[in-house]
Amino acid sequence: MRPIGDLSPAGGVSWTLDPAPRPRVMSGTMRADQLRDGVPRGPFGLSQRRVRPGVFGEPAFEAELVPESVCPARPHVLAWLAWRAMSAAGIKAGVAPALLSIYAGYRSVAFQAQVWEYRLRERAESRVSAGLPPLSQRDLERQQRKWTAKPGQSAHHTGLALDLGLYELGKRESRRSPAYTWLAANARDFGFYPYIPEAWHWEFNPPGLVTALAGFRRALAADAGPNAALTACCRALVDPG
Ligand SMILES: [Zn+2]
Repeated sequence: MRPIGDLSPAGGVSWTLDPAPRPRVMSGTMRADQLRDGVPRGPFGLSQRRVRPGVFGEPAFEAELVPESVCPARPHVLAWLAWRAMSAAGIKAGVAPALLSIYAGYRSVAFQAQVWEYRLRERAESRVSAGLPPLSQRDLERQQRKWTAKPGQSAHHTGLALDLGLYELGKRESRRSPAYTWLAANARDFGFYPYIPEAWHWEFNPPGLVTALAGFRRALAADAGPNAALTACCRALVDPG
């Protein structure tokens, strides 16, 4: 067993993990027809496996989220472990570490509700100051849904969705970056799937995750200890069936 760091400053529990969650899904190469000028083609070369908040829910236990002292974005521990393996491989392959860093992770429904209300107000006010006629609440919300997930509907509620440092490059440049090409070819090998409209947004959702996560939560509820729960869960992911 190799320690992977102290994930519980409160309890002083040091998480150990054997093996690391690296679900074997496919080899990490892209076919030529999946690339256009070296850049992954839109939805045709990549497949999404969206993390539905209705399926996974918010983390049920504090121990599911990485403490802020370890990662301020507080991703789900499963996504974080897989991300560590992925980012190490990416850096080894020459990708700039900053582009693979975690920009955003877990976002609670309550926090998203504040963001939603704030942006809705901002949207209504900017129409007024631009001299445009006011929109109905329904139309305002419809416009806003293009840019902001409604509270309860964001994949970030699960902690399994990560916005990577690619975000800083902006919409166009992030997609054209070598970092994105590398992710498109390799992320699936670590259990990560893209959200096509946003090159920086990746979701940890390997096959078998629903069952593995349910087992993880059952073990935490039964007080099996975070390490035992995590190890069993990761084994189920790496070696499904
Ligand atoms: Zn995102």
